[in-house]
Amino acid sequence: MGVSDRLVLVIVDGMSNQVAHERLGFVESLVERGQALRATVQSVLPSLSRVCYEAIFTGTEPIVNGILSNEIVRRSTQESLFDRIRAAGKTSAVFGYHWISELYQQAPFDHVRDRNLHDADHGITHGRFYFEDHYPDTHLYVEAEDLRRRVQPDLLVVHSMNVDDAGHKHGGLSPEYAGAVIRIDTLLAMMVPQWLSDGYQVAITADHGMDSVGYHGGTLDEHRIVPFYLLSSQLKKLGDSESTFSQVELADLICQLMQIAPAPSMTRFSPDRLRQWFHSTTQA
Ligand SMILES: [Zn+2]
Repeated sequence: MGVSDRLVLVIVDGMSNQVAHERLGFVESLVERGQALRATVQSVLPSLSRVCYEAIFTGTEPIVNGILSNEIVRRSTQESLFDRIRAAGKTSAVFGYHWISELYQQAPFDHVRDRNLHDADHGITHGRFYFEDHYPDTHLYVEAEDLRRRVQPDLLVVHSMNVDDAGHKHGGLSPEYAGAVIRIDTLLAMMVPQWLSDGYQVAITADHGMDSVGYHGGTLDEHRIVPFYLLSSQLKKLGDSESTFSQVELADLICQLMQIAPAPSMTRFSPDRLRQWFHSTTQA
């Protein structure tokens, strides 16, 4: 069939659905032209970074996985997407915040030991982890792309922090926050065509959002509702799906996109939505 089972997963830390929808002109153009599907994701609670990373990568609720705040610093005890990719004989590469390394490699993060992860024998296969929230998104995207070209991973995760950083410093309705989201759009306009021509599917989402006074963690839509964009030749549904799904369904959806078996502990992506969105082909 030649359907791609490789994926670039873009996680824009702290990007609310509202501001993404208003400011991601390039990405929204893909939806408008019927090349991408748009949906929204409702984050788990509390809508905090580490809690949401664990929900995204394991498909489990915080009450199950025990990562209930940013202060719980330990390796995940759940079977993760990275474990499933490895079990399928495939590889992953992550350019992301060091908390992801803590969850799926080793905690606490050792700046020298854990900054670069080469051909690991457990968890993530290849990693580059940063530990400053103002680490420039511009450099991060270029370096993530360099990593992708070098190691040709089946899953590349690109996880950037400047949108979250601008939101905390200036608020989610500030010009600085809007500017950080616009810079992401510019970077995606550079990278997405290359990723597609190299045979990758592309998914774009966020861990949590940001409210007007620069916080998240709670139950407001600004905190919990984040965008989800998908480019994949497996899709039959394109444009705005006007549907919202739970963040814990993402891991199973990613397994479907990569045509690997999900972990039994991962929350199932709604079978109805799966039928509505995808061609019923190629699943083993
Ligand atoms: Zn975050």
